[in-house]
Amino acid sequence: MTFIETRGNDGTKPAEVSFSEAILSPSASFGGLYVPKRLPTLDFDFFKAHIGSHYKDLSRALFEKFDVDIDEADLNKALDRYDSFDDPENPVPLVGVEDDAFVSELWHGPTRAFKDMALQPFGYILSKLAEKRGEKYLIMAATSGDTGPATLETFKNAAEVKVACLYPEGGTSDVQRLQMVTEDAPNEKVIGIHGNFDDAQTALKNLLSSESFKNRLSQSHTKLSAANSVNFGRIIFQIIYHIHSYLQLVKKGEIGLGEPVYLVVPSGNFGNALGGYYAKKMGLPVEKILIASNINNVLSDLITKGEYDLTCKSLIQTTSPAMDILKSSNVERVLYDKFGPERTKELMDDLDRKGRYRLSHDELAMLKEDFDATFSSDEEGKEVIAKYAKKGYVMDPHTATCFKAYDKLRKKSLKTIIYSTAEWTKFSRTVSAALGYDAERDLDALEWVSEHYRVSVPKMIAELFEKPIVHTTVVDKEKIEEEILSFI
Ligand SMILES: *Cc1c(COP(=O)(O)O)cnc(C)c1O
Repeated sequence: MTFIETRGNDGTKPAEVSFSEAILSPSASFGGLYVPKRLPTLDFDFFKAHIGSHYKDLSRALFEKFDVDIDEADLNKALDRYDSFDDPENPVPLVGVEDDAFVSELWHGPTRAFKDMALQPFGYILSKLAEKRGEKYLIMAATSGDTGPATLETFKNAAEVKVACLYPEGGTSDVQRLQMVTEDAPNEKVIGIHGNFDDAQTALKNLLSSESFKNRLSQSHTKLSAANSVNFGRIIFQIIYHIHSYLQLVKKGEIGLGEPVYLVVPSGNFGNALGGYYAKKMGLPVEKILIASNINNVLSDLITKGEYDLTCKSLIQTTSPAMDILKSSNVERVLYDKFGPERTKELMDDLDRKGRYRLSHDELAMLKEDFDATFSSDEEGKEVIAKYAKKGYVMDPHTATCFKAYDKLRKKSLKTIIYSTAEWTKFSRTVSAALGYDAERDLDALEWVSEHYRVSVPKMIAELFEKPIVHTTVVDKEKIEEEILSFI
């Protein structure tokens, strides 16, 4: 399998690259992204053979179809990372919450958010590639709260990789901050910045494109990379759980093999939804992918009206911060898949220059073949949290955005898989407020919810409050570069 570029090739990059090249140097011509040249197809027999498969076996079978340049032994080691999940036999449990709705819980890994699903195995693969090439990497991450902990966790103590992680001080939950500042590994540096997530993200982008920064790094023989959500090395791991969740429904006897289902995906940068889209294209029986957003509703405007318009929008902070995104990067891969590289470049150039683009009537119809979308306010999310908690299912505010899509967008009465992207413990103050208790600290909210709704707080969350704080650096934006260089 080779990879090509969403905006076409500018003649300075190779026309096609391997999987390992696409993940080590993910920036493509004209600012585009790498995509598989051709997606493999999965037939009825493939699905049938994997109805009862272990998650790792399904993953191996899928990687075989993709035929990427990763050694079998390395892939196996990467997949062994799922052994640290709550149930290594089934890292992604499916829980029925309505007769026809099943929540696929993607957060049973070490940092309790779905980022672990991809970053755990991907971190191993990237570290191994660096080691084999005799190269050293600095991985930079800017986080609104989930990517940071997951990136630190996957690369901790990696031999040839260092991590610098930027977070907005005061902009995350207590649990998210503690997950970062208590991470004790000599190869990792966590830096709080005075500012919001956008400031952290902008600082990261500036450093990633700064020649002088790269030159200073190369003096210590270090290359720069980012483990951000556009890296195809993450996307490939996000195709697997869509297939696994479907097969679990078959195994439970809820659907027959071949019967279509709806997928509901709480979306920000669109990596999770893209994994579902690729699974559908490869042959998974999916009726439609229903995209759930918060009031930063660029995605639902695109999918329902064909308009992507940033000129009349500014980012609004919500109680589902991992979805507070206006530039949703992975949408580009869907545009490429549907409309080809010339049109994708045109649309993305419009977005860069004018802050907006508009699909034609026919293009919008093509998008609607696979997607529909809606968005929820924080208030609506709280109501969902309260409604299901009373029925015995406690969910986080990102997952809660899915239920409006489930209620309103389904045109057929088909079984529905709803993706849960974080454990409630990561956003406990929002959850407890929805259930009637305004807590000042996560610790109080965690105790109150677990006592009143009989849900347990996992060990790795409870322990955070006892662990020593290792990282105390909090600086102004201008000081970030200096901090990172002195760490290197
Ligand atoms: C990252 C994240 C999302 C958004 O996922 P995308 O793949 O970027 O669309 C949603 N919910 C939570 C809790 C997340 O951490």
